[in-house]
Amino acid sequence: MLQQLKENLLSGSAEEYLSKLFEKIEKSDLNAFTSIAKKNALNHAREFDKKPWKGLIAGVPIGIKECISTQGIQTTCSSRILRGYIPPFDAHVVERLKQEGAIIMGKTNMDEFAMGTSTETSCFGPTRNPWDLNCVPGGSSGGSAAAVAGGEAPCTLGSDTGGSVRCPASFCGIVGLKPTYGLVSRFGLVAYANSLEQIGPLTNTVEDTALLMEVIAGHDRRDSTSALIEKVRYLPELKMGITGLRIGIPKEYFGSGVDHKVERAVWDAIAILEDLGASWQEVSLPHTSYALAAYYVIAMSEASSNLARYDGLRYGLRIGHDEDWHTTFSEIRSKGFGPEVKRRILLGTYALSAGYYGRYYLKALKVRTLIKNDFLNVFKLVDIIASPTMPMPAFKIGERINDPLSLYMADIFTVPINLAGLPAISIPCGFDGNLPIGLQLIGNHFAEDLILKAAQAFEESTSYHLRRPEGAV
Ligand code: GLN
Repeated sequence: MLQQLKENLLSGSAEEYLSKLFEKIEKSDLNAFTSIAKKNALNHAREFDKKPWKGLIAGVPIGIKECISTQGIQTTCSSRILRGYIPPFDAHVVERLKQEGAIIMGKTNMDEFAMGTSTETSCFGPTRNPWDLNCVPGGSSGGSAAAVAGGEAPCTLGSDTGGSVRCPASFCGIVGLKPTYGLVSRFGLVAYANSLEQIGPLTNTVEDTALLMEVIAGHDRRDSTSALIEKVRYLPELKMGITGLRIGIPKEYFGSGVDHKVERAVWDAIAILEDLGASWQEVSLPHTSYALAAYYVIAMSEASSNLARYDGLRYGLRIGHDEDWHTTFSEIRSKGFGPEVKRRILLGTYALSAGYYGRYYLKALKVRTLIKNDFLNVFKLVDIIASPTMPMPAFKIGERINDPLSLYMADIFTVPINLAGLPAISIPCGFDGNLPIGLQLIGNHFAEDLILKAAQAFEESTSYHLRRPEGAV
């Protein structure tokens, strides 16, 4: 689609295309965008129309998640504490997009500091699911997914700490990829839990995701965890088929707690992959039941440390009088952070405190290693792993927000992948009524090529990705 769009823009008008998108966003009920860079983007498009430039995504408009730094455009992580913050620099991924000719449309909504599964904790209000406005779009990159599914942007970037790209991709019926840890630079991504998170694309098709990965992946010396990989190419071999591919089906990812329509859609998808030349076998990831506990201890511990910087002096909101430091610090943080962020700072600080560190944080790190080893053992037997992305389709807005545990539980199939640092993609594989269902394909470290190839083969022989919500073009 993006390749086609690029050609259309060359023969047509980028300005016209972009104006239509902005018109749509301005009239939209989705609340997918937190701000649009209308003037700049239209100027850019006009220049492109006059004298088109070259690049992998020349002239293509893109929406960027609210936690990825964009020079001159507000970047708040959908938190009151960062309201009004305009970064003086671009994140590495944004630099790469610009170098390849993209036009930055604006910023997309998210759960506050990416803590959530539903995009309901944003200070800009919830984003709605284009398939059913009463449902959540998933989270935390819900704005990025709703924008693509709703036809408000041809592609977007999100970030995935424990499923935040794959969950909204699944709930909105689009493609979302979480890359191998270290493949995409985190320079300029506002940190929530740095040992877990990666930036990833959200698009209408697998090919578009492969293309965006070619743009954003690669070494960056400003991120000390960035892998020494200069350039990746996924497109040349994307359509080579999956004859002989061995797929593992983890028995712990099916059964109790999984909606039966989701389970059925995923088994149907596995049958299709088999028809396409792959084989499958049951595998076991025995430590799966400890993944959520380990993830939330690690994520909250890192969050409590990362968010300590918002003290109103060095970073963040400046309100109230200049009382003593403790009063100012606590007033700013009480007013600036929402309830979910506060909960996580409290729990994370507790888990890291002297006396408890060994009991919680250290133990979680040990479990993390066991989970990673589970995957590495399975990858001795199979090439990729298939599972549901989420145990259920999108739920109603308001249904779970007051029950944080039920929200955390929904992440059961996505967080193990972040703990292990693996790549995983979510692609549409069915519907429950009008609500999309996502298939998750997981690869070994840096095996993005394999999961993309399998996803492409599946997409080519199905039409789920072609169904669009009403009103989306
Ligand atoms: N739902 C998970 C959390 O709240 C994952 C969020 C994310 O990937 N940013 O931590």
